[in-house]
Amino acid sequence: MVYDENQTIFHQESFLLRGYRQTVYLYRKKVEAAKIILKPGKEAAVRRFHPWVFSGAIDSMKGTPQDGDVVEVLDSGGETLATGHYCTGSIAVKILAFSRRIIDSGFWQEKLETALACRQRAELTTGVTGNAYRLAFTEGDLLPGLIIDFYNGVAVVQAETTGMRRSLQDLTVALQALYGSSLKAVYDKVGGVFLEGNSGPVEITESGHRFIVDFVRGQKTGFFLDQRPNRLYAQFYSSGKKVLNLFSYSAAFSVYALKGGAASVCSVDSSRQATDWAVENCKLNGIEEARHQPVVADAKTFLSGNSERFDLIIVDPPAFAKSRHLTNNALHAYSHLNAAAIRSLSPGGKLFTFSCSQPVSREMFRSALHSAAILAGRPVRILHQLSQGPDHPVSLFHPESEYLKGFILEAE
Ligand code: SAH
Repeated sequence: MVYDENQTIFHQESFLLRGYRQTVYLYRKKVEAAKIILKPGKEAAVRRFHPWVFSGAIDSMKGTPQDGDVVEVLDSGGETLATGHYCTGSIAVKILAFSRRIIDSGFWQEKLETALACRQRAELTTGVTGNAYRLAFTEGDLLPGLIIDFYNGVAVVQAETTGMRRSLQDLTVALQALYGSSLKAVYDKVGGVFLEGNSGPVEITESGHRFIVDFVRGQKTGFFLDQRPNRLYAQFYSSGKKVLNLFSYSAAFSVYALKGGAASVCSVDSSRQATDWAVENCKLNGIEEARHQPVVADAKTFLSGNSERFDLIIVDPPAFAKSRHLTNNALHAYSHLNAAAIRSLSPGGKLFTFSCSQPVSREMFRSALHSAAILAGRPVRILHQLSQGPDHPVSLFHPESEYLKGFILEAE
């Protein structure tokens, strides 16, 4: 890219469109990014790579940025610290780069290449672990507000901020450059439209197992990729076991457990659609019908009406606390749900239990499990502590991105 004196940007882009490489030349008027000047002393967090600027840290602004505009962040001495998306709200800037950058399709291409290289180094793209992974994980990849899941050639984009939504076109171009002809479609989950190509539900493999991902009708982006490493524990511990999978969605944990030799698996989900997918996925993996029992029910109601004991129980509910003020209610709900699960464990039985509530810290969740064991009146040990997989990286500077907390417990 070249700038001329008249402040126009000469901009060359090359991308694949319906299988043909296209080159376009664009001339755009260079728009000066608004400048956000921080109060003295407030630059420390940005210098330490924290990806957000809170509105209280702002001293003044040059320009009048609107929600979603690209802005530069400067310290009180006028030095540029970062470039990001302006947001109306208590988080005023979501940072995209800790330097002065032009945010264009070349920028997105570079960011997605960096993100893909991270997944490649984690051995997630070679096909050995499967052909689905999270390519972009918000703050963990310094792409705040953006999630992209790659499902065997289909990129499902979840862009939550105005800035990211405005960048969808450039992101599509960047994805085309990244994957070439192996990219079959790009689907905008928030808008509910294809940005490129078209595809029905797609079949993926994960750790050698097959799953149908219906990214249009499915929850979130269609499949819960964050649980991949934890499912391997379920496979490992399931041989000969009677397994209960609560909040089972499309039965990913169930398939791993059954492939690990579980005697039987009962998958419980309140959604009929989810259990239909569960049945389909078991069939796809050649599992005998008699070994898998799908149940449409509320998980707590199921447990309270149940007198059977299980050797391994998985509890992976949706987030109970979506915001901080709901944390106490969530902890109460986690305690009672897990107490009911612990009561249903056979002697020596294992409980795989998870919280994906962002405001609930690992320590808080652990204390809720402590209460659960007391309520159930059984001695319980922690065998493993679990989190999200490496395609959901956590920035050390932004610990909040570690949203998935899990424990494998064993009851006497
Ligand atoms: N463990 C799954 C993901 C679970 S997502 C996996 O690895 O793929 C949470 C699931 O809980 C969703 O499928 C949702 O339909 C289900 N759910 C929500 N509320 C529920 C309830 N009260 N009882 C049972 N299932 C519930």
